Amino acid sequence: MSDRPDAVRTLGVLGGGQLGWMLGVAARRLGIECVFLDPSPQCPSDMIGRRIAAPYDDPEALDRLAGSVDVVTYEFENVPAAATEALAGRVPVRPGPRSLEVSQDRLVEKSFISGIGVAVPEFREVSDERGLRDAIEAIGPEAILKSRRGGYDGKGQVRIDARTDPAEAFAAIDGVPAILEAMVPFDLEASTLVVRSLEGECRTWAPIRNEHAGGILRRSDAPGPGIPEEAGEVMKSAAIRIAEELDHVGVLAVEYFVIGDRVLVNEIAPRVHNSGHLTIEHAETSQFENHVRAVVGLPLGSTAARVGRGTMLNAIGEHPTPRELVAAGVESIDEHGDAAGPLGPGCVRWHDYRKSPRTGRKVGHLTIVDESIDESWIARLAALVPGATDAPSLSTGG
Ligand code: AMP
Repeated sequence: MSDRPDAVRTLGVLGGGQLGWMLGVAARRLGIECVFLDPSPQCPSDMIGRRIAAPYDDPEALDRLAGSVDVVTYEFENVPAAATEALAGRVPVRPGPRSLEVSQDRLVEKSFISGIGVAVPEFREVSDERGLRDAIEAIGPEAILKSRRGGYDGKGQVRIDARTDPAEAFAAIDGVPAILEAMVPFDLEASTLVVRSLEGECRTWAPIRNEHAGGILRRSDAPGPGIPEEAGEVMKSAAIRIAEELDHVGVLAVEYFVIGDRVLVNEIAPRVHNSGHLTIEHAETSQFENHVRAVVGLPLGSTAARVGRGTMLNAIGEHPTPRELVAAGVESIDEHGDAAGPLGPGCVRWHDYRKSPRTGRKVGHLTIVDESIDESWIARLAALVPGATDAPSLSTGG
């Protein structure tokens, strides 16, 4: 096997969720087939590629994967280190170990980011109840306790205030190693996606504004309304700085809190990201295509917007009703990522991950692209998408 870009024909992907599916769609358009590793009985990636159904740390499965692909990447950051180490001896794994090590542990992540001069919320390490009391003393009572490892979509987190009993809060995260983070009175949440090539070239997409509810992303908009220009520039340079310092290859997502012109990094993800789904329709090259390009060593595509605005709504817990989607003029994406009609202003597309419904689960997303955002139109579409209406509508900007 070789990882010369012109020789890369197969890409291994750890994880077969919706991110894997969308990576597989992008790879196939570049003439690259994906082989996925995922233990689940059924996966969204089954729509687009072959899968080895086994645990991530199964030596025989890792051996089979390494023997059948030219390069390996991943769609989630909590990949066991043993898996990537076993693969790395046989086949290039991109992004590399530093990106995983830093993003798997909130303490390492926040220490690394602040260590390279990029601002983060005030935080303290918490290893026991006594440590939590000390951290509350230092930071103040308005804070969030977050487990160091394994949390996503707001899991493993407890909000703290003056009335909280530290013993109860620590027990609520099962007494695992954690950090205490000051509660940030942010104006809005945002993200920057950056892609870094094998040669070290970085490109960023338009700054994205994100709306969460219950710790889960509901809505993303690009370019993010209400993000001050200066803050957008800081977000961009911080994302590039982080990617360079990690020697990252592929897409890196950096999530921010924006307070006026100030920007603090909340967290990073060394992979394609939910807030970048809208790049499929909004940008000349999607996050998925540029991630594949980067990890196989192909030149990056343009990240410029092809239409003025993009909005994405997540469907959470349940699917929209197909009849209502058709009546609202929404096009459905097929298994291979294709839509029947051309892409252009006024286009609305539904991406169905073909997952069975479950509370809190992301089952699909809707993307709207147009020259400007028409909030009343988006509100009508959001009413069709379960979970999306839990997001507050944009309160600033236009
Ligand atoms: P996380 O899993 O760390 O991204 O947190 C999920 C969501 O909780 C974020 O998107 C914010 O809406 C909220 N959150 C997390 N950390 C903080 C913080 N330090 N201050 C205010 N809100 C936060």
